[in-house]
Amino acid sequence: MRAQPRASHFIGGGYVESPNGAAFDSLYPATGDVIARLHAADDLTIEAAISTAREGQKIWAATPAAERGRILRRAAEILRANNRALSELETLDTGKPLQETLIADAASGADCLEYFGNLAATLTSEHIDLGGSFAYTRREPLGICVGIGAWNYPIQIACWKAAPALACGNAMIFKPSEVTPLSALKLAEALLEAGVPAGVFNVVQGAGDVGAKLVSHPAVAKVSVTGSVPTGRKVAGLAGSNLKHLTLELGGKSPLILFEDAHLDNAVSAAINANFYSSGQICSNGTRVFVHRSLKEAFLTRLAERTANAVLGDPLDEATNIGPLVSKPQLDKVLGYIEIGKTEGARLVCGGGAAHVAAFPQGWFVQPTVFADVTDDMRIAREEIFGPVMSVLDFDSEDEVIARANATEFGLAAGVFTRDIQRAHRVIAQLAAGTCWINAYNLTPIEMPFGGMKSSGIGRENGHTAIGHYSQVKSVYVEMGDVAAAF
Ligand code: NDP
Repeated sequence: MRAQPRASHFIGGGYVESPNGAAFDSLYPATGDVIARLHAADDLTIEAAISTAREGQKIWAATPAAERGRILRRAAEILRANNRALSELETLDTGKPLQETLIADAASGADCLEYFGNLAATLTSEHIDLGGSFAYTRREPLGICVGIGAWNYPIQIACWKAAPALACGNAMIFKPSEVTPLSALKLAEALLEAGVPAGVFNVVQGAGDVGAKLVSHPAVAKVSVTGSVPTGRKVAGLAGSNLKHLTLELGGKSPLILFEDAHLDNAVSAAINANFYSSGQICSNGTRVFVHRSLKEAFLTRLAERTANAVLGDPLDEATNIGPLVSKPQLDKVLGYIEIGKTEGARLVCGGGAAHVAAFPQGWFVQPTVFADVTDDMRIAREEIFGPVMSVLDFDSEDEVIARANATEFGLAAGVFTRDIQRAHRVIAQLAAGTCWINAYNLTPIEMPFGGMKSSGIGRENGHTAIGHYSQVKSVYVEMGDVAAAF
């Protein structure tokens, strides 16, 4: 097996196996081959992770913030030095092409560790003058945080949760998706090598039941999950009934609005990035592309021409643009939606089914697919597909497109293309979406908070904002005079 880790879990600074836990395999999506076999955590393993996290967190919280920051920055450098190997591992586990994983996965994780490493020593609190007496605040860690990841950006998601958590002095137990369990273990190795004490970052493997046990454990103070809306609802219910802090990064069906004055090729590039990057398996994707009626035919012609140039193939070949989907169930789901689009009467512009890549007959490849003449009531325009399927919808006026863009339970992201600066800001201000772009799409620098409104999420990752989600404020009143009492 090409990517077998030393053991399934990383707990208390070392690899740990749980031979009695349910066995599961990681498969290479281009071939279906088993690349690693792991075991889910049993109850003893979960308790071991909790116990070491409890001890590690005390040591870590007592470490000066500047030192914590230095260690996180060192971990960033370790990820960068190993970027190629980490990217190859991520490509094997997810099927995403190396062309992408080299720049968007461990590299983004390293940026995140560096950013929060830099922030750690700058986290100051308030002094409040009360006229003689005074108060001050302390920003304190929450304790043990649980991170639960989706399968589309495994190491990136692990870093986006671990870096702010650790910068604030918390410990983390991270559960990757059982579809992509491998790279979080490498992050644990890097953090340990950088100087993070044993027990501060642990990886526990398993499916949703292991996640649910972690979420409801009494020792856990905070949960951050990246996943689908149904999972988010379950986790929120568990976290709510146990009164835990919560961050939810969930799904979307985001609008990308192209006004009549949009730069055509930039708009086409954005639509491609917003639908076909990572084979469309991105939460913030702009899968409802609203195109002004006057731009529509030019847009579709250019989009079809450029999409025909996409290279599908060997994910480990850096010339490949589009790899397979992550799993057979995901392939079946996406192909199902393509059939739904055809049945619903949308016009197929290109793609429309599985892609056959000669060297990888067992690979879970899908053709980049564009539907035009899509209407708001079609399922392909309402439901998250999470595959390379773009829906193009026409519109005539600004007010109309804003109302239609917002007519969804989701609110993760949105994009607007126009050369009219006032319109751009006016429209963005009216869109119910947590992460927006003007004349760009899907760029997520760590400096910028990321997250969703409505059913797409609670809380934000990245930026200064994330600090508030991984720490709590203690207010301290200091009396400088005598204490008055009624009697
Ligand atoms: P899932 O919702 O299926 O799973 C997400 C994680 O939650 C997995 O680790 C899963 O375990 C775990 N899980 C499932 N049930 C429970 C439970 N009851 N308690 C605790 N944990 C549980 O999502 P996918 O992995 O299929 O990822 C795709 C989804 O993630 C899409 O909807 C996408 O939009 C969303 N996403 C959101 C992002 C954002 O930042 N907003 C970014 C990336 C993806 P397991 O799968 O191992 O069983």
